[in-house]
Amino acid sequence: MGQASDCIFCRIAAREVPADIVHATDRVVAFRDANPKAPIHLLLIPTEHVESAAALGNGDGDLLAEIFQAATHLAKAEGIEASGWRLVTNVGPNAGQSVPHMHFHLLGGRSLGWPPG
Ligand code: 5GP
Ligand code: ZN
Repeated sequence: MGQASDCIFCRIAAREVPADIVHATDRVVAFRDANPKAPIHLLLIPTEHVESAAALGNGDGDLLAEIFQAATHLAKAEGIEASGWRLVTNVGPNAGQSVPHMHFHLLGGRSLGWPPG
């Protein structure tokens, strides 16, 4: 765990790479996706390097609770509380995970298709 110097999301969390950060605590940072797929598209990440949801352990429950509570807070702040939103995390190649630092996409502001592509 800790920080990985070659990881883009660790570097965003450490403020070494610029991002439009909308929420930050010691454990969780949220910022706007650079290539948004919906009118609202935020990424929520742990500040600690965790490769994916598949790498979570027994001690990570509080971290996950904080991420989900931050998502609800941000959905309200972004004005999509009533219209609805999706929180999704990709694991591995078939899911399209392109950054190996766990992140949750918070998507909203339009009708979202189901199932995803
Ligand atoms: P994945 O495909 O791994 O589930 O999602 C990675 C997401 O991170 C993509 O939606 C991509 O647009 C976003 N992303 C990748 N690099 C950066 C970056 O340097 N800054 C920001 N803000 N978003 C990034
Ligand atoms: Zn990382």
